[in-house]
Amino acid sequence: MNSPPSPRVGSQCAWSRSQSPFRQQTSVRFPRPPHAQPLSLRIGVGSGLLALHTIPLTALCYSQIAAIDWAVCALLYVQGALTMGVGLHRYFGHRSFRTTRSFQLLLGWLACTLLTDPIRFAGKHRLHHRYADSPRDPHSPRAGIWHCWIGSLIDEGYSTAQIRHHARDWQRYPELVWLERTRFLHAGLVALATAWLGGFSMFAIGFCLSRVICLHAVSAVNYFGHRSGDRRFDTQDASTNPVFWGWFTFGEGWHNNHHRFPTSARCGLARGEIDPAYRIIQLLEKIGWVWDVRLPAGPALPPPSKEVSSSKGTQRPLKTGSRFSTKARAALR
Ligand SMILES: [Zn+2]
Ligand SMILES: [Zn+2]
Repeated sequence: MNSPPSPRVGSQCAWSRSQSPFRQQTSVRFPRPPHAQPLSLRIGVGSGLLALHTIPLTALCYSQIAAIDWAVCALLYVQGALTMGVGLHRYFGHRSFRTTRSFQLLLGWLACTLLTDPIRFAGKHRLHHRYADSPRDPHSPRAGIWHCWIGSLIDEGYSTAQIRHHARDWQRYPELVWLERTRFLHAGLVALATAWLGGFSMFAIGFCLSRVICLHAVSAVNYFGHRSGDRRFDTQDASTNPVFWGWFTFGEGWHNNHHRFPTSARCGLARGEIDPAYRIIQLLEKIGWVWDVRLPAGPALPPPSKEVSSSKGTQRPLKTGSRFSTKARAALR
């Protein structure tokens, strides 16, 4: 029987995750990290999460939901997913492009509408990349689905000081520190706006439900993006590219690609890996609001003549001559 080729970190992966040595590794469970946040904060965040879920459920059972409520929910989901992809993750988490201070503030304010803030998100997310799939990962699936999906939102096993330590670069902007201190106020303003425009049903479905879906979409990437799907690159972590979540989160789910090229503004690398968040960044670059957009600096693309294997067949090579492939291939020379 032929043995699989030796893995090379960061190289094109020759086998799917199901055939990979990572399958064995990821079946080993870690103990849940010890609590690092004070009890009062854990109770506060836990209660908030419970309310966020209960309110739309109550509305679905007891209120008349109008089509406009669902439309606002869809609109705010799109806003939330793109804010997560463009602002929180690729800009504040990885600095994958540069922008003006005023647009940075706008991205930070939009981030707060997701009930988080740029500083805490960046700190926590950088800890994830630093310790991915190790016992120190803030939301490893190997610590159990509950901790990965919900528990880490309440207490990720790091104190606020430890999290902020990994986002010191953003703390030199007083306006971002102010957003951090007042983060729930800004989401509250959006909640009030929906209630004022459409009453309880729009608040419950338009605001609360859209935030719930955004929250679970992020948790799904944290879980399935290290658990199921194929691996294009042999990264040192167990990250994968779960197809459904790649589409649903507007590009955030191409997680193996992202772990291979964490500072790249583009996560979807192959045909079918749609990445609307990157398209928005391209658009912003075109109108001059952002610049120095970073792209993969390594062997991101399969050679045009070859196909990349996956458990679901083969992927076609990327279109040659596209702006991305030209730039990325140029970076390899
Ligand atoms: Zn990850
Ligand atoms: Zn990341």
